[in-house]
Amino acid sequence: MPKLFPDDDVKSTYDVDFRALYREGYRALLFDVDNTLVPHDAPADERAKALFSMLNEIGFKCMFISNNSEPRVKTFCEAVGAFGYIYKAKKPMPGAYEEGMRRMLSDRSTTLFFGDQLFTDIWGANNACVRSILVKPIHKFREPGQIILKRLLEAPILLSYRLLCSNKRKKWRVPLQDGRVVF
Ligand SMILES: [Mg+2]
Repeated sequence: MPKLFPDDDVKSTYDVDFRALYREGYRALLFDVDNTLVPHDAPADERAKALFSMLNEIGFKCMFISNNSEPRVKTFCEAVGAFGYIYKAKKPMPGAYEEGMRRMLSDRSTTLFFGDQLFTDIWGANNACVRSILVKPIHKFREPGQIILKRLLEAPILLSYRLLCSNKRKKWRVPLQDGRVVF
């Protein structure tokens, strides 16, 4: 079960204080796309573009690892100007996470992963021993059928995660912007 638990969870990627993460020593970020940054299959919006231009400016290298098809992930990556992408990533297998770190010249101590699903995103990051952050899906109810089914299976695991991993017990918390609305 702990293999399905994230290292931390936040409401949204857009709430994270990335400058503080950079100060903590992180240099590379791996992201899921669908429902982590934009709704499933939605194009990059202004908020996503602003986020990645800020991340570039801070000095992060960013890559997308998605189980979706190449046109979807490539188009998104180009629209936001990120470092690169891996499509049909076969999450929860660890290969894409390892490949992403290799391409960004980063390692497990300087890389973070953000995703919205336990059985693919978080399990995969844990398999690759990359620190994982779970975000709430942007549009939970506009997803393909198999993802809705996975959400039902996720529910009891999320409940045990919340019961067993209270904020007080966590060794590490993702820094959040202190109430400032940046985007
Ligand atoms: Mg997703």
